[in-house]
Amino acid sequence: MTHIFHRSPLTPPKLAARGQSNYLIDASGRRYYDGSGGAAVSCLGHGHPEVIDAMIEQLRKLEYAHTSFFSSEPAERLADTLVRQSPAGLGHVYFLSSGSEAVEAALKMARQYHVERGERTRRHTIGRLQSYHGNTLGALAIGGHQGRRALYQPLLVESHHVSPCFARHYRLAGETDDAYGTRLAQELEQTILALGPETVSAFIAETVVGATAGAVCAVPGYFEKIRRVCDRHGVLLILDEVMCGLGRTGAYHAFQREGVEPDLLCLAKGLGGGYQPIAAVMAQEKIVDAIVSGSGAFQHGHTYIGHPVACAAALAVQNIIERDGLVRRSAQLGETLHRLLRDRFGGHPHVGDIRGRGLFQAIELVARREPDTPFDPDLRLHALIKREALARGLACYPGGGTMDGVRGDHVLLAPPFLATQAELEEAVDILA
Ligand code: PMP
Repeated sequence: MTHIFHRSPLTPPKLAARGQSNYLIDASGRRYYDGSGGAAVSCLGHGHPEVIDAMIEQLRKLEYAHTSFFSSEPAERLADTLVRQSPAGLGHVYFLSSGSEAVEAALKMARQYHVERGERTRRHTIGRLQSYHGNTLGALAIGGHQGRRALYQPLLVESHHVSPCFARHYRLAGETDDAYGTRLAQELEQTILALGPETVSAFIAETVVGATAGAVCAVPGYFEKIRRVCDRHGVLLILDEVMCGLGRTGAYHAFQREGVEPDLLCLAKGLGGGYQPIAAVMAQEKIVDAIVSGSGAFQHGHTYIGHPVACAAALAVQNIIERDGLVRRSAQLGETLHRLLRDRFGGHPHVGDIRGRGLFQAIELVARREPDTPFDPDLRLHALIKREALARGLACYPGGGTMDGVRGDHVLLAPPFLATQAELEEAVDILA
């Protein structure tokens, strides 16, 4: 009998007793391949000795100091590392402990930026249907995950949603990528104009959509067009790379493939690689300048932000990724995984799309390919796949159906960057 209020008490999770490289081991000793790194978290797998040593060393020196009094060496070094690996403008790092906290902080930073510049009316935020930005009330409001939002209406933030962007040619029915991207940018612009540009604070998007849709990349040019619309109306662009960032898509930041820079960038999962809860918002100079030269302080904070042991763990994770060239490895292995998925599922009557970048790959499941018809959400296909894959020794990340209420089901694979080709073959075999 458990006293934990598990998320789904009727189907409580298995008990994971140990983690070993890219596998999780349950209480009976059974091994499960961590094919989604949890939720694109465990980029270095489990039990990495260097990360553990770095955490223990930090624990011996200093376990905690409140950030209103003290910074710490690992926090300073981690911020330096993130800034060094990012485009020049993203020169500031604000630490948090979860992806939701990072999104909340970014939303508030955007609001405060406008207020400091005398634009107090900019209170609306625009997100996209079919996106996930977290479960706290603000992040939930701006996300497009209908299933998770439904029970908690009305939500707190004044949020509005525009269409997501799919790089899915067979759905575009004759429309070019360019025309499709232009149409979506126009939709955003019309939404801003309808609200009144002087009332809009920010537009937020996942650069590559993760949990709600399964590794959906935008068509080429989409983000450049979106960036121009935001700039025209003084709306800040927040990119949420909580799931797709820090090497996951084969680039350090996913936006580096899109020809744009965000004003604010949210990072989390792969930052600490699961060794500690840690997240960050990276901000452009102009945002920090406005706040510092205005009221002088970002009116935000949490007790555990910049936690020294969390920062030491993340610093070790990021140093290993850099030293061992793991972003490149993610790109290369991602190609292998994509090919394996294509070979195995390319002709499958119920696979509508195989997509992704780097070690962030998904297959989309459809009842019929032509015309493109999702499965009935009541089937809860994603839940069946999750259960059956786990029974066969694969932890993967299916989603969709009633979960997002917008499109069909998919299975996301996001294995550790240290995955081997043999492991990927086995994972795809199990899935097949
Ligand atoms: N943004 C994105 C893109 C995410 O995928 C997630 C988590 N799945 C979050 C935000 C929220 O992160 P957390 O669960 O750490 O609060």
